[in-house]
Amino acid sequence: MYTCADCAAKPCRSHKLDELPRNCPTAEYSEEENLNRYSEEEREMAYCSARVEGDFYCQITRVEEIMEYALRMGYKHLGVAFCVGLSREAAAFVKILRANHFVVDSVCCKNGSVPKSLLGITREQQAHPEREVEAMCNPAAQAELLEKAGCQMAVILGLCVGHDTLFIRHCSMPCTVLAVKDRVLAHNPIGALYMSEGYMKERLYGYVDRREK
Ligand code: SF4
Repeated sequence: MYTCADCAAKPCRSHKLDELPRNCPTAEYSEEENLNRYSEEEREMAYCSARVEGDFYCQITRVEEIMEYALRMGYKHLGVAFCVGLSREAAAFVKILRANHFVVDSVCCKNGSVPKSLLGITREQQAHPEREVEAMCNPAAQAELLEKAGCQMAVILGLCVGHDTLFIRHCSMPCTVLAVKDRVLAHNPIGALYMSEGYMKERLYGYVDRREK
């Protein structure tokens, strides 16, 4: 079992190899084995990511970091895979990217307009039962369409849990995330973690037990 989340000192961070705790994954592979995992292109990706981090540490927003990373990687054509619930944010993001000379394709999660009923979802089970037909999210086609359009990197914006999983599974181009969806916390899901020893303690720690009652 690996327990990095419980490791307080994290000596791996600064190469203090004589201080590694027991069952530390750092002991499992040599540096060479680790480096050999990455193709030349992937080493370039890792290099550019580290350079963006180092050059702009705590200075630029994630929107800017995405543009900076894309510039360094030579990605001029970006694809935005967004959730219909974040349509305004998608429009703003695309506008910013275009103003910065990127070519941008964007595909909404509801593309295809396939009724959820074809997945076996009843009208009562829809997010909005008042609607006669609710379209399913179609992340596999989002990935395929953006690739077909010639995008060099995809940016996920607010896809649901599970739909993002499917998008990532179907996306063979490089992919990053601008934001993940949290309808309750203004798309800031780790707000729950910041409150996990306070206002949200009982709610979070007892979630599964309550659910099973
Ligand atoms: S890799 Fe080792 S040293 Fe680093 S956080 Fe995990 S257990 Fe701790």
